[in-house]
Amino acid sequence: MAARLPDLRIIAAKKATVMAKEQGHGSRTVAPIPLNAGAWQLQQSIEKFSRTLAGVLTLQYGHLPAESLLKAVAQRAPALMQRRDAASIHTLASIASRRLDRQLEPPQSRILIGQCPYCGDDVWSSEDDLAAGWQPCNCGQTINIPSVQEQRIFKLAISDAQGTAAALSKLLKSCGITVRRQTISEWKRRGIINSVSTQDGKPVFLLWDVWAAVTR
Ligand SMILES: [Zn+2]
Repeated sequence: MAARLPDLRIIAAKKATVMAKEQGHGSRTVAPIPLNAGAWQLQQSIEKFSRTLAGVLTLQYGHLPAESLLKAVAQRAPALMQRRDAASIHTLASIASRRLDRQLEPPQSRILIGQCPYCGDDVWSSEDDLAAGWQPCNCGQTINIPSVQEQRIFKLAISDAQGTAAALSKLLKSCGITVRRQTISEWKRRGIINSVSTQDGKPVFLLWDVWAAVTR
């Protein structure tokens, strides 16, 4: 996992031209949001996992990057395997490793739309899945695709995510929702949505407003 983490960081660091308010140290600033929300979330969860393992082994390396933590933890694997929760640690490690594999070599013609509400595993949908609106998960549950998509859009929308018609169209596409740039412009012309500012002379819309128009 440690060896593949740098590649994940590169993917996760790609920022979209869509901006959102982010909470940090008491102030709210507008910042570009990660283009690949799935990769970014996975990076967060692997970092948290490696810090937890380091904590369990009482390693004093809290300030080190996850790559170093994972290497240090791997060297102490025998100690981990003596623990009563060794089986669950092993399960968590294999899930993280599998998610990382899929993120770096995504299944062909599938996109990551979010996480399974039952087991937390990544949900990769094909065109057929998206059209059907549901798909089975490895955990045995049936996933309702629109509700997984809505979860992700909702999280972005409440932080005032905003962008040009082209940027928002791209963002929605990465969630498996097709809304053409021209459609958003047409909604503005018909007064269904209003722009909140401009960027390089182009109108900027709130994701929330565009989403409301999609689901109206
Ligand atoms: Zn599941």
